[in-house]
Amino acid sequence: MTLMTPQAYRKSLERDLNLFMFGDKVKDYWKHPIIKPSINTVAKIYELAQMNEYQDIMTATSHLTKDQVNRFTHLHVNGDDLVKKVQMQRLVGQHTGTCFQRCVGFDAGNTMYATTYNIDKAIGTNYHERFKSYWEEIQEQDLMVAGSMTDPKGDRSKRPPDQDDPDLYLHVVDRSDDGIVVRGAKAHQTGLVNSHRTIVMPTLSLRKGEEDYAVSFGMDITAKGVTMIYGRQPSDLRKIYDDIEDTGNIKFGSQEVFLVFDDVFIPKEQVFMDGEIEFTGGLVNRFASYHRNSYGGCKPGKGDVYIGAAALAAQSNGLSGKVSHIKDKLVEMTVLNETIFSGGVASSALGTKNEAGLYEVDSLLANVTKQNVTRFPYEIRRLVEDLAGGIIATLPSHADFKSEAVGNLLQKYLQTDCETPVEDRFKLIRLIENLTIGTGSIAYTTESLHGAGSPQAQRIMISRQGDFDKKIQLVKKILDTSDSIKS
Ligand code: SF4
Ligand code: FE
Repeated sequence: MTLMTPQAYRKSLERDLNLFMFGDKVKDYWKHPIIKPSINTVAKIYELAQMNEYQDIMTATSHLTKDQVNRFTHLHVNGDDLVKKVQMQRLVGQHTGTCFQRCVGFDAGNTMYATTYNIDKAIGTNYHERFKSYWEEIQEQDLMVAGSMTDPKGDRSKRPPDQDDPDLYLHVVDRSDDGIVVRGAKAHQTGLVNSHRTIVMPTLSLRKGEEDYAVSFGMDITAKGVTMIYGRQPSDLRKIYDDIEDTGNIKFGSQEVFLVFDDVFIPKEQVFMDGEIEFTGGLVNRFASYHRNSYGGCKPGKGDVYIGAAALAAQSNGLSGKVSHIKDKLVEMTVLNETIFSGGVASSALGTKNEAGLYEVDSLLANVTKQNVTRFPYEIRRLVEDLAGGIIATLPSHADFKSEAVGNLLQKYLQTDCETPVEDRFKLIRLIENLTIGTGSIAYTTESLHGAGSPQAQRIMISRQGDFDKKIQLVKKILDTSDSIKS
């Protein structure tokens, strides 16, 4: 059995990283109050995988190692794996109420397994065996893997080689028998700091003359030449200067960094694509479909926490779910949340086997799911704010509640029903603040809009896969018009 314990995971992060925050290098980052919540979140994944009641969802048997592995390192060998993927994401979202950061590498692994197979079959390279060995190590050691796709992109109207600065898209700057040297950057790196490795992939379909940009590889986070710059989040300084209660989600959080590759050497055993432009479009689409399907699992899990918080807020205000407009709002949130999950499950359930022997999600349904995710969480958030009341934006600090001078005033005037201690009400309001307008809102709204591709990216895919011609033919057949295809 190769499941890492949460304790071993925490210990494995005790290493030196070239990580910067607020202009300074971060020492002992695993102890940093701003970073720790994101580590706690991933540790929760390792914890859930150890629990008997979640073994079926959180673990699987690897077809590579023949051993039990954490499902976040699993390659989908049947349709059931795809369904359990979104069930697992929902479960982890329910336990943390935030982004749990382990899905990008998961989706990248499944993408590169199939893409390396396709490249080898077409042109006789040996990327697939390399990738399998690399991924076997990940499964055997139960490593946390990130995924790195989004280049800074510079002037969006120009192709990568036409940028004023060629490094605005990550590219190969040197090659030898031993490996390659890469330069560039990747933005929006979810959970990178608390990962062991990352799978790097190109961000767009590349053309002739752009071979140096068609590169994919695996990399240790500690590689020489890597720089990470920590992304700010709303109210992040509360984690340093205020009582823990003022952070809202007192245990869990997520994390994003900007990643720079300053002539990083990648050994050839870790290179999974180098110049094969014709496979970049397929790679990007495959990854996008897997990752858009992931949102059909993670967002409903977080959504459950949003709905629970709204219901609890109403209850602690003395208004139970029996009040008709409150009940109706909880129903509306549930409809939206379960619609997202339905898309996740459906895109998994209609998955098909690819040439490499893995299962891929239904791309059209995954894109439609993600398109819904760009909208529904905003409405759910609005309804949570509605039920929680304006106090989410005006509540005094925890220090005021503890204060000898004014604490008793807050205790007196912020009591509601006699069953809810004011302290518990304080915690709930802070959690809702976190989820709606604070740190937690990143993972539920902005992330929902732009993560796994901004809304227009899905609409392009939907327009390609919507098969409007076939639908025209259906109508012509019903009308029995002259050029219809008779059946
Ligand atoms: Fe996973 Fe969702 Fe976070 Fe993406 S946003 S890494 S799918 S939890
Ligand atoms: Fe994401």
